[in-house]
Amino acid sequence: MAAKFDLIPLNDWGFFHLPPRPCVIAGPCSAESEEQVMETARGLKEIGINVFRAGIWKPRTHPGCFEGVGVEGLRWMQQVKRELGMKVCTEVASEKHVFECLTHGVDMVWLGARTTANPFLVQEIAEALRDTDIPVLVKNPVNPDLDLWIGAFERLYGQGIRKLGAIHRGVSTSSKIRYRNDPHWEMAAELRARYPEIPLFADPSHMGGKREYLKELSQRAMDLGFEGLMIESHRDPSCALSDASQQLTPSALIELLESLVVRDAATADERFNDELRQLRARIDVLDENLVFTLASRMKVSRQIGDLKKENSVAILQPSRWDAVLEKVASSAEGYGIDPEFIKRIFNTIHDASVAEQNK
Ligand code: PEP
Ligand code: MN
Repeated sequence: MAAKFDLIPLNDWGFFHLPPRPCVIAGPCSAESEEQVMETARGLKEIGINVFRAGIWKPRTHPGCFEGVGVEGLRWMQQVKRELGMKVCTEVASEKHVFECLTHGVDMVWLGARTTANPFLVQEIAEALRDTDIPVLVKNPVNPDLDLWIGAFERLYGQGIRKLGAIHRGVSTSSKIRYRNDPHWEMAAELRARYPEIPLFADPSHMGGKREYLKELSQRAMDLGFEGLMIESHRDPSCALSDASQQLTPSALIELLESLVVRDAATADERFNDELRQLRARIDVLDENLVFTLASRMKVSRQIGDLKKENSVAILQPSRWDAVLEKVASSAEGYGIDPEFIKRIFNTIHDASVAEQNK
């Protein structure tokens, strides 16, 4: 078991109050202009949001896209602090970004998914933040590598940072899924299991990529026991210079937040129910993954069927199937599950595949 982190609890950062959940961080993908920042922040303040986000330097896939306004945007963030009394936060990806944030009184920073995947940058940022007291949130890396995520916490903790939190935003995938990123909730659940002291935020905006998915992803995060949400909000999302299709107006955001069903455990009985609910949410995630994997398998199986037909080869090939069964049975043993159980499941899968190929 890895060493625990001795962290300052979320409630002692002066940003959030738990319960109730979720603790919300909201604001535009990018700071675009003084008016856009101020108008959006005012809209958020009106719905009771106190922690404002905005990207100042944007990590874009292609050069030539809008790459953020840079330091000028930090002055608008200062104005949000001054005029609205909100806490402000942004993404840092280098020592220089940290320096500019500290100079301009940014209250909290986060490491983006591409940065967490790069230990050189994480180390550079951690060292630049040494001797400061601002909270640091770490997004999961773009690839599903839990150790890389944990390594980033270790590097920051190693420089004396005690206000740490995680933001789960899903991972890149080459599979065709409806979301922008694969939610891969298991990775966050595993982080929670190993380091329950790290507060968890979900970022349904970058996970879903489209407004229509934000509610279901936010609800799932609440069911899994996440403390908070980071959601992109823009005064006029359709005109946003980045991530236009996933941002919400402040009024759509409050509608979403009010629709969430969130239960907080107070009594022992409720704690039991809460734990049960979280475990069931994990089972739901795993079941969804099973269905997705079975659907992908069926697709390949159909292709094999077509190939066999084109080449006049018999659909049913018992020797091949015996070999598959042996392989999965021995793999099951390695995972400590009954090989006979796995054989039964695979025989059912096989029957369905043959039926599909015979269509
Ligand atoms: C962001 O939060 O604006 C962002 C770029 O997110 P990510 O690092 O998750 O892609
Ligand atoms: Mn964004």
